[in-house]
Amino acid sequence: MIDDLYQETILDHSKRPRNHRAMADATRKAEGYNPLCGDKLRLYLKLNGDVVEEASFEGSGCAISTASASLMTESLKGKTRDEALKLLDKFHDLLTTDTPAGRDLGKLVVFCGVREYPARVKCATLAWHTLKSALSGGDATVTTE
Ligand code: ZN
Repeated sequence: MIDDLYQETILDHSKRPRNHRAMADATRKAEGYNPLCGDKLRLYLKLNGDVVEEASFEGSGCAISTASASLMTESLKGKTRDEALKLLDKFHDLLTTDTPAGRDLGKLVVFCGVREYPARVKCATLAWHTLKSALSGGDATVTTE
């Protein structure tokens, strides 16, 4: 039953992704590509000092990658750079290790089922790898390979 709820959230965000737009006044941008699945995205961040004021993305990919980018941009707002990187680590743990799910990950916990499908982990983490690149100031394209 909880799986259904998670699936519903992922479907909802893949069909109606939040913050799915270009950002003209972005202070950081990065692109990500997952060749295994063909997921592509461009991430925009507006940083005010050390705080993520806004986050948005464009791109096309599978349901998992789109939903992940959508939920990620929602969870980034108001976070400092360090908090965002910590969230990335926790999200990565959620997908790759058998830790108790949901440690203050909020809605992002819906991706815990992806752990069962190693090929899809790259879809779910693409936006996050791209985030890391954007936060470190790179304008390079990140690939999951
Ligand atoms: Zn994918």
